[in-house]
Amino acid sequence: MDCLFCKIINGEIPSAKVYEDEFVYCFKDIAPIAPVHYLIIPKQHICCANGIDETNSNFVAKVFEAAAKIAKAEGIESYRIINNCGEDAGQTVMHLHFHMLAGVKMGWGPESLGKTE
Ligand code: AMP
Ligand code: ZN
Repeated sequence: MDCLFCKIINGEIPSAKVYEDEFVYCFKDIAPIAPVHYLIIPKQHICCANGIDETNSNFVAKVFEAAAKIAKAEGIESYRIINNCGEDAGQTVMHLHFHMLAGVKMGWGPESLGKTE
């Protein structure tokens, strides 16, 4: 399958690995938008949040388990996890992934969501 993140998981494309276990792989985003910007991805190819169902939702739990482990290991107290689903939401790689952002005070509320027109 011609998928960038599957190639990163199998080592065909290099990445800055942060964490790996049987279910998930975590690496540094190539274009960070925060001092800490990791991507946590399931090792099974799932296109996006809309591709989650009862056969693969265990991978999502494993993503969040990994995030908690990574945060503890790195002493990260506050972080935000984001998933973009679909083009209009900003999804550019069609392999389910969760952005883990930290290291900066983040805004919250409608004004932080950007323009919607
Ligand atoms: P999204 O826009 O939600 O689909 O997120 C895709 C993310 O993948 C972006 O933040 C990109 O900077 C990141 N990205 C794309 N290619 C690579 C790569 N080869 N290594 C690490 N991160 C990447
Ligand atoms: Zn994939």
